[in-house]
Amino acid sequence: MLRNSTRRGRPAAGAAGRPRVTMSGHHTPDPVWTARRRALDQHIRPTRAEIDLGALEQNYLSLRQWAPGLEVLAMVKANAYGHGATAVAHRLEEAGVRLLGVALVEEGMELRNAGVRAPVLVMGGSYQGGYEAMVERDLTATVFREDHIDALAAAARRAGKTVAAHLKVDTGMGRLGASMEELPRVLDRLRRHPEIRLEGLASHLASADVEDSPQTRAQLERWEVARKRVEEAGFRPALRHLSNSSALLGLPEGRGGGAFNLARPGLALYGLAPAPWLEGRARLSPVLSWKTGIIHLKEVPAGATVSYGATWTAERPSRIATLPVGYADGYWRAYSNRASVLVRGLRAPVVGRVCMDMCMVDVTDVRDAAVGDEVVLIGRQGGESISASELAKLAGTIHYEVLCGVGARVPRVAV
Ligand SMILES: *Cc1c(COP(=O)(O)O)cnc(C)c1O
Repeated sequence: MLRNSTRRGRPAAGAAGRPRVTMSGHHTPDPVWTARRRALDQHIRPTRAEIDLGALEQNYLSLRQWAPGLEVLAMVKANAYGHGATAVAHRLEEAGVRLLGVALVEEGMELRNAGVRAPVLVMGGSYQGGYEAMVERDLTATVFREDHIDALAAAARRAGKTVAAHLKVDTGMGRLGASMEELPRVLDRLRRHPEIRLEGLASHLASADVEDSPQTRAQLERWEVARKRVEEAGFRPALRHLSNSSALLGLPEGRGGGAFNLARPGLALYGLAPAPWLEGRARLSPVLSWKTGIIHLKEVPAGATVSYGATWTAERPSRIATLPVGYADGYWRAYSNRASVLVRGLRAPVVGRVCMDMCMVDVTDVRDAAVGDEVVLIGRQGGESISASELAKLAGTIHYEVLCGVGARVPRVAV
């Protein structure tokens, strides 16, 4: 949720608790959650994630330029990779995005509750009861089993609507989708349900982030077979898509052409290349900066230790700053004694264990560091920068997880 007051002269679009469009239906905000949300948005603690919506829009335009023949389905699942789904969705909607993608029915409902009107594709399949909610909120279902198709058709009939759906085929990801063997039966079932209009055909690549991957080649061959079977069964899905950010940036055919006409980038929209070999292909800049401030400073003598377990000992008289961010915010304990932060444009190392709500940094070499100074955890300050990828390496994970991990306790602020 982004604070209204930070939107610099633009009207608040779907800010917390203030939907642009009031949706009818059963959803009533949980009062406890709403109260907590409002309290967290008070910004008493200096820790915040700044979301550069201008950079987001520029990344979207850069990807359109990179692949002029493709439309874009913007993946905004997982709270838009930690960036705040409603504000991100509103901005991309204004920029003309063709579709938005979420993993959960609930995520789609959140977008509708916030007044997002763009088509939303629920990619994660569904569970019992999800079809009613999808039909009611005009969320597009991904189907790949006969029981999905029956349940979606029944929900559509009850609502007196015709609904769009995308069919997913498993070409080798091994997660969701009809197998090549199941495909004829699934298509047969679709033909029997005129309430469902097959708008899209989808698959997902397992190794698109690997250069010249034989697995990707095999998946693309299977995709061609699936596409022909779907056409032979009499369907002409208007949208055909299997590219994530890696395939969009890395595959020769990822930029457009016959096989697909829609790409589903997530990470690239947020300004990061999925893998080093894909850097610099389209002009992208990171959307999220994670900042906090110094809330306490102290001088310690050589030999003093810092934080739980005394894992760091001062080798010289040192100045230690305390920051109000910890692993409960997604600043992982794995960063203990490894990560750096930026203070006054200089790197300062994290010393001792990262705690649940706080961590300490050594600012002995940062002249004039003071209580109240802004501290950058991810982002730029002066000539220095720290990327989500840098932190990911320290924690033995990927940048995706670092971004998604920025906790619900951290307010998102549009800049
Ligand atoms: C998350 C996801 C994407 C986007 O992946 P990126 O690597 O972030 O571009 C695309 N398609 C599906 C099915 C996904 O789950």
